[in-house]
Amino acid sequence: MMRLGLYGGSFDPIHYGHVRPVLKAVERLQLDRVLYLPTARPPHKAEGPFASPLHRFVMVELALLDHDRLQVSDFELVERPAYTVETLEGFAARFPEAQLHLLLGSDSLAAIESWRRWRDLFPLARVGVLRRPGWSRERVSGSASPELRAAIDGGDVNWIENRPLEISATEIRRRVAAGERLPGGWLPEPVVQYIRKYSLYP
Ligand code: ATP
Repeated sequence: MMRLGLYGGSFDPIHYGHVRPVLKAVERLQLDRVLYLPTARPPHKAEGPFASPLHRFVMVELALLDHDRLQVSDFELVERPAYTVETLEGFAARFPEAQLHLLLGSDSLAAIESWRRWRDLFPLARVGVLRRPGWSRERVSGSASPELRAAIDGGDVNWIENRPLEISATEIRRRVAAGERLPGGWLPEPVVQYIRKYSLYP
C-alpha cells in the first residue's frame, strides 16, 4: 500500500522550514512520496499570494530537486479556491489503495476549524503535524476547542518531532523587498537566484 503525504501551502516562497520537517515526517511515517501542492488561491490568506502560481510551483521544484520522494503537484493550481477537503477527496478517488497523510504545520492545525468541512478531514487522512516555533503540541492542544481536541484525540494524528525552524515566508519577502541579506540556511540557493532573476518580491 502506498503511503502518500500531501502538503499544501502558498510556498511564497518555499523555504527550508517547508523541507526539513517534511523529511523528518517521511522518515517517521515511512512515506513513499510527498506531494507539495502550491495553491493558486489560498482560501485563508488575508493578502497575497505575491508571486504567481507558476513561479511558486517552479520554486517548489527547485527546492526539491535533490529529494526523489518529495515532488510537486499541480492539483491545487486551479482558478477557484482550493479546499483541502476536496483535494483529499480527489486523491482518495484517484488512488483508492493509498494511505493518505495530510501534512501541516502546528499553527495550521490550531486554525483548522476555519477550514471548509474541517471535520471531514480526519476520516479521509491521517494528519501529520509539523512543529512550528511558538506552536508546541501542548499549546495547540491547550488552546483547541473541546470539539477540535476531541477530533485530535479521536483521529489519527501524528506529531512529528522535527527541530523547530524559525523561518517564515513573510520575513523572507520583507528582507528581499528591503534589499537585506537572506541568512544562509533559510532557503536553497537556486530559489534565491530565481527570486532575484525575476524580481519576485520587489
Ligand atoms: P508565513 O511564513 O508567511 O507565515 P507560511 O509559510 O505559513 O507563510 P504556507 O506556505 O502556506 O505559509 O505554509 C505551508 C505549510 O507549511 C503550513 O501548513 C505551515 O504551517 C507550514 N510551515 C510554514 N513554515 C513552517 C516552519 N518554519 N516550520 C514548520 N512548518 C511550517
